[in-house]
Amino acid sequence: MKILVLVKQVPDTSEVKFNENGVMIREGLQSILNMFDQFAVEEALRIREKYGGEVSVMTLAPEQAKSALQKCLALGADKAYHISDRAFGGSDTLATSYALSLAIKKVGDFDLIMAGNQATDGDTGHIGPQVAQFLGIPHVSYVEKIENVEGDKVLVKSLLEDGYRMIEVKLPALLACIPPPNFEYSNPSMMGIVKAKNKPYVWLKADDIDGDKSRFGLNGSPTRVMKMYPPPKRSRGEVFTGNYNEAVKKIIDVLKEKKVIS
Ligand SMILES: Cc1cc2nc3c(=O)[nH]c(=O)nc-3n(C[C@H](O)[C@H](O)[C@H](O)COP(=O)(O)OP(=O)(O)OC[C@H]3O[C@@H](n4cnc5c(N)ncnc54)[C@H](O)[C@@H]3O)c2cc1C
Repeated sequence: MKILVLVKQVPDTSEVKFNENGVMIREGLQSILNMFDQFAVEEALRIREKYGGEVSVMTLAPEQAKSALQKCLALGADKAYHISDRAFGGSDTLATSYALSLAIKKVGDFDLIMAGNQATDGDTGHIGPQVAQFLGIPHVSYVEKIENVEGDKVLVKSLLEDGYRMIEVKLPALLACIPPPNFEYSNPSMMGIVKAKNKPYVWLKADDIDGDKSRFGLNGSPTRVMKMYPPPKRSRGEVFTGNYNEAVKKIIDVLKEKKVIS
């Protein structure tokens, strides 16, 4: 089975800041492999171990994202594709997905494409489904586990708000993955880090992928960030004092008043 995992390097923070043009301020921030993507890589490696095949990883990002791809190779991935060109600067999610889908078409026939469900910086969750749409293949989001692979079908466990569903999907397909609670991430071994240095690392520029170049970068991005701001802070709510029984009675009265209970 040929598996490709899309990975993104993200700032190691939950407090992302933007400049006046809505572009992320990356200066002074350490970068890490998006944790959703590391989970997808580890799940792909588990599938390779069980069913054979190879696992490639791909990013569309400036040169500095090499460390994220190297980490994937050190964890056990076989090959890395790094798409990097000034032509991609300022890409929104649609232009990013378009370029990724062209690169995927260019480099090979993959049976399975995996991605994180969302990136911890942009956090739109657009890329996986959009790439699948451009490639004309089915996709499943919120995939917590690949249960089984049989012939040209995979059975996956996909999370719902109040449970999960089992979905069988025909290959080739794209799975956007989310780590289960308490997932224990692996650290690359010393041997893995050394081996990674000799694994195939392929650089691709805009000219290396066939497509409509007017759809790359800022010019090919139909969305513009008009304003970025943190959500308003929640008020602390009402604090009931007094003894336990009085507080419970007050809470019940409030819930009745708001028609939460009758
Ligand atoms: C108008 C506009 C302008 C922008 N300009 C810039 C800019 O100048 N510079 C900049 O850095 N960003 C810019 N962005 C943000 C950029 O579009 C997003 O970082 C990118 O498209 C990914 O979206 P996301 O972070 O929401 O990923 P999500 O859709 O949440 O990511 C889901 C998954 O998709 C995969 N994925 C996401 N991005 C990539 C990638 N690049 N390569 C491989 N796999 C990936 C990963 O597996 C990830 O877990 C801009 C966005 C907009 C809307």
